[in-house]
Amino acid sequence: MTMDIEVFLETVAREVEGKKVPIVDLIAVQTNDPFKVLVATILSARTKDETTAAASTRLFAAAPDLAALAALSEEKIANLIYPVGFYKNKAGYLARLPEALAQFNNTVPGTIEHLLTLPGVGRKTANLVVAVAFQKPAICVDTHVHRIMNIWEYVTTSTPLETEMALREKLPLKHWLTVNSLLVAFGQSICRPVSPHCDACSLHKDCPQKGVRPRRIPGTPQHTNNTDNTMKRFASWNVNGIRAVEKKGFVTLLKDLNADIIAIQETKAQEDQLSAELKNIDGFASFWHSAERKGYSGVAIYSRLQPIRVLEGLGEPEFDCEGRVLTLEFPSFFFVTAYFPNSADGLKRLDFKLRFNQKFLQFAQDLARRKCVVICGDYNVAHKEIDLKNPAKNTTNPGFTPEERHWMDTFIESGFTDTFRIFNQEPGQYTWWSYRYNARAKDIGWRIDYFCVDKNHAQHVHKAEILKNIMGSDHCPVQIDFRIDD
Ligand code: SF4
Repeated sequence: MTMDIEVFLETVAREVEGKKVPIVDLIAVQTNDPFKVLVATILSARTKDETTAAASTRLFAAAPDLAALAALSEEKIANLIYPVGFYKNKAGYLARLPEALAQFNNTVPGTIEHLLTLPGVGRKTANLVVAVAFQKPAICVDTHVHRIMNIWEYVTTSTPLETEMALREKLPLKHWLTVNSLLVAFGQSICRPVSPHCDACSLHKDCPQKGVRPRRIPGTPQHTNNTDNTMKRFASWNVNGIRAVEKKGFVTLLKDLNADIIAIQETKAQEDQLSAELKNIDGFASFWHSAERKGYSGVAIYSRLQPIRVLEGLGEPEFDCEGRVLTLEFPSFFFVTAYFPNSADGLKRLDFKLRFNQKFLQFAQDLARRKCVVICGDYNVAHKEIDLKNPAKNTTNPGFTPEERHWMDTFIESGFTDTFRIFNQEPGQYTWWSYRYNARAKDIGWRIDYFCVDKNHAQHVHKAEILKNIMGSDHCPVQIDFRIDD
């Protein structure tokens, strides 16, 4: 099927007419001020539009121009922009902005090259400012543009940067300025990262839908095999702080995952710190095992299926005080989620981690002797060289030491199957990217989040996926479709 980009973009323009305009475009139209566009673009990274809008309003009330921004302390800026994502870092960037703009006569430069010299400005921000504030040819490729252009098979790329370069080659110039706001609005409303609304999309007949799993149409059964009540979907996600990810739309996203059980690691919260919305998500029971230390570690499970028993920890106080393992027992299987320790800088916690791993292996083997076991979570180890971008540079770093990889060998050899590798033997399949060095945009990642099942039930796994387009954490979710015994 060949797609016609003109027809597709015209259709999208009709689809999003009257829908929410991305906040940065709105600020550009309302203010016609490159300074405000630049500041709002910096604030908008990894932040919901509503939060960016409110923070921009507060900040611009106190600092309507560069001179006023220079008069604010970093602490004051942080207070004004809270709770945008990474507000402390962004307050630092904004505090340094007046000094950085001095070399451009205290004005915002209009070229990507110059914008890239400013604090907190990466390629995406620079492109967006050039396109939106200066109306110059630039293609801002964010996650929606990258994702949707690949779904349409207009490009076949792995990173937003590759997509930008491919679009520069083939996208007609007249679309450069508008493609970002069109596809952001479309990606937020219809072609959503999880369960896109293909049933309500005018492109449905012509779209290649590459790699897409459409949402369940209300009123129809849950999975593709509509009559099969034994086919279940399980998901797992290290959210790196459930209260932080709640502000980025976690509850909606969790429902959109359309899964029967969803395991969460690194909740970094105790139960009394959770909102009612997080604890009581419609259709799910939630189970929590938190660390004694506040703001640290912690795991949880949301389940549509009613367990017959809940087990917290491994039965070893040294490990259980860190809230790392939670098990739900069902009639025909155990569902275990684990947040394995990080061996830490200088491998200070490697011994602790190896003791935990050994205890965990015994625990998993005990369960597997009784019935089927599904074990998901952040194992905090890349097993093989294809499981991370730069294996040679990382052999002495936490998560890729010979000792940690050897334990993973032992775990697999003792009877557990890494479900993702049943279906996919390709390199470049990552679930975690450092927040540093723009690693996610460059796809410099590691695969450290796994679904493993006992080998007697490996054939029950029908699909295993990495949901790399889901943002909000430094990890992305992983999921499997699994047939449980009646
Ligand atoms: S048909 Fe589905 S995948 Fe294709 S553009 Fe529409 S919502 Fe996106």
